[in-house]
Amino acid sequence: MTTIFLKQGRDHTVLRHHPWIFSGGVARCEGGEPAAGDTVQVCDVAGALLGQGAWSPTSQIRVRMWTFGEGGVVDAAFFEQRIAAALAARAALPPARCATNAMRLVNAESDGLPGLVVDRYADFLVCQFTAVGVERWKAEIVAALAKLCPCAGIYERSDLDVREREGLPLVAGVLAGETPPDLVEIQENACHYGVDVKQGHKTGFYLDQRENRATVAGYAAGREVLNAFAYTGGFGIAALQAGATSAVHVDMSAPSLALARANAARNGIEASRSETIEGNVFEVLRKFRDARRMFDLIVLDPPKFVESKGHLMAAARGYKDINLLGIKLLRPGGILATCSCSGLMPTELFQKIVTDAACDARREVHLLQRLEQAPDHAESLAFAEGHYLKGLLCRVS
Ligand code: SAH
Repeated sequence: MTTIFLKQGRDHTVLRHHPWIFSGGVARCEGGEPAAGDTVQVCDVAGALLGQGAWSPTSQIRVRMWTFGEGGVVDAAFFEQRIAAALAARAALPPARCATNAMRLVNAESDGLPGLVVDRYADFLVCQFTAVGVERWKAEIVAALAKLCPCAGIYERSDLDVREREGLPLVAGVLAGETPPDLVEIQENACHYGVDVKQGHKTGFYLDQRENRATVAGYAAGREVLNAFAYTGGFGIAALQAGATSAVHVDMSAPSLALARANAARNGIEASRSETIEGNVFEVLRKFRDARRMFDLIVLDPPKFVESKGHLMAAARGYKDINLLGIKLLRPGGILATCSCSGLMPTELFQKIVTDAACDARREVHLLQRLEQAPDHAESLAFAEGHYLKGLLCRVS
């Protein structure tokens, strides 16, 4: 096995169990240049063993750690153990926090499996392999999943751009068992959703917002809801099921809105209560403002605006814009649920942006509750990058 020696002072993060070693931290390799995905030993500058990781020659993240400290063998049994531990952690969640048959089973770095996401949707598992390390061990990982998680089929959605940084092709397809149907029906609390695991975003559904949909639903009775960045209806349908008088779902994706309409019907919601508008949220909110159309509950759940640190200020302007418009569109006493799923957007800065928006709108805003990613997406405290979803649930006077 090749041994990688880190530069002076580059061992601190590894000693704190952060799983990434950047290319600039590597001093030299001993024992030959490793191939993509090979397991390498990682040592500090003095030669003390820090652990083992997967070598990724094309990525800035040159090594993703599998183990820390001495010992441990990275083999099929290692992956089976890590997956079993991830499953046990989900099984230990309180039932009330996951009244669903859809959840994240393996959350990549935060479950000690850098680059591997596994989500369950009813009888199907959907996986993403985003790094060469897990790609190398795909067969062993699929075998472990088939053994530990009874399911009808295991489907792969490794069609993400980040694969290119790892020198991997974008692929999707069946890994084991049956092909999923075009829509897999899942249940989340009181709602049923059809999920397109083959073509939908991510692995098909924004499971990380499960608890936040339930929280928002708790405020929804008797309210007119605007569900901005609606995708397949998630928040709006949860609100309607909980007694909202109406919901308007806005998204720029026609197929997502078609599924939002089907999801409303699936839950027995009359079409008249659940309107879809295909368009750019930035423009639609302005049209509502100009038409003086008001709402009692607004959800703002945009996609990731911050792709890199250089995008932060432009993203901040985008968040400010939609939050300012959103606050203005709320009747007094209205509820705003505003989110950012950008890992690079600091929670404090996001709150400052919403505060500035409230100030500019001349409205008094109270924070009722912070919103977080659901506990099946728990982040390891050693891996701060694992915390990406943040939100504020506010009352707007
Ligand atoms: N709230 C959803 C998930 C939203 S994902 C849920 O709980 O399931 C973000 C969505 O925003 C995607 O569906 C994407 O199509 C949409 N989107 C991205 N930019 C947009 C824009 N400028 N205007 C309208 N929709 C947009």
